[in-house]
Amino acid sequence: MSVSPPSALPVHRILPEEPLLLMGAGPTPISHEVGRANAVVINHLGPTMNRVIEGVKDLSRYAFQTSAEHVLGVAGPASAANEMALANLVWPGRRVLSLVTGTFSARLAEMARGVGADVTVITSDVGQPATAAQAAAALAAGQYDLVTLVQGETSCGVVNHEIPEIARLAKSHGALIHVDAVCTLSTMPLPMDEWGIDVVVTGGQKGLASIPGVSLIAWSDRAWETVQSRPRPMPHWCLDATRAWRFWGEHQYHYTAPVPGILAVHEALRLIAEETLEARFARHVRCSAALSLAVEAMGMSLFIDPEHRLSSVLSICRPDPVDATALKARMVRDFGVEIAGAFGLDIVRIGQMGEQCRAEHLFRCVHALGESLRREGFDADIAAGMAALSGALRGDAAQ
Ligand SMILES: *Cc1c(COP(=O)(O)O)cnc(C)c1O
Repeated sequence: MSVSPPSALPVHRILPEEPLLLMGAGPTPISHEVGRANAVVINHLGPTMNRVIEGVKDLSRYAFQTSAEHVLGVAGPASAANEMALANLVWPGRRVLSLVTGTFSARLAEMARGVGADVTVITSDVGQPATAAQAAAALAAGQYDLVTLVQGETSCGVVNHEIPEIARLAKSHGALIHVDAVCTLSTMPLPMDEWGIDVVVTGGQKGLASIPGVSLIAWSDRAWETVQSRPRPMPHWCLDATRAWRFWGEHQYHYTAPVPGILAVHEALRLIAEETLEARFARHVRCSAALSLAVEAMGMSLFIDPEHRLSSVLSICRPDPVDATALKARMVRDFGVEIAGAFGLDIVRIGQMGEQCRAEHLFRCVHALGESLRREGFDADIAAGMAALSGALRGDAAQ
């Protein structure tokens, strides 16, 4: 053998002894139920798996607020699910209007271009959402088959409140609408049927509080008809929605399904149904508002105006003289808490998705942030931050 065996530590010796508290922009902490499901492998075909699959579809319909038949899982990151949706709905000659507010909405435009669409991009000012007025102007000036946008732009922390109006505009124009709800599904309202959305995509590791690697797509009947009437074969075999439906709809073999991840997403969705969407939305609003108050009380400022501030990811301006990379490293080293930096913006981000927005995680995170800021040279008022958090969460300590 010319390549000799390397010596490697077991993974549990590579991991920190005490797991970090994941308060970044994903992946997010998982519940015990999700973790336990994720440790199981069963046959990906057969009666047991079929029950799980039917459960995932039913539970997903609740999370997506749709009665659409075609809801399916994708083995891959949320980007693979977005790519699957776009690759099936778009082909050379199709015209796509992409409303761009940051990294993830821009990625949708890149993907559409990748499968040959003629893509028009409308870019919002930094920290501002795409508006119905922008969409109306673009749709009046050109002909489009598909409109893409994100509900929550995780990269900068901006939310779009005008999706119902943008969806109405797309529909009256005769275009389909694709909404990326990766960081928002189950954290804030996105009633797919009521708002008339054609494709909604989400990942596992953000709003759903499942593991990374299994994502979900819901297709309206209109979107599914478009997939079925494509004039040319799908370029991607694994991402072919019609082939995928053999597994998700007919319990036949497509590719070997990522069994543990599907079991995990079943549990994450079941916990969402048990909590109810209403209670879950309220928990996200309450916790993220409390976090915002705490951060401001410590003397920092928030990057996005309250009106457009995403409740699932909070963007905080980096205070002078603190270096963002040093601050993040300090929080990990001294407190075992991980937050996120940003893609080219002078901010740090704290996630408020799923299990992240629990009172006990907020207290630990705000304390770690305040102490780390002080150790990195910014005079954070930790007592005021903790008091603001406590005040805003009062009566919520058991959440
Ligand atoms: C994280 C994220 C993605 C990409 O998810 P991956 O699982 O990393 O592919 C896409 N869109 C939004 C809004 C996200 O937050």
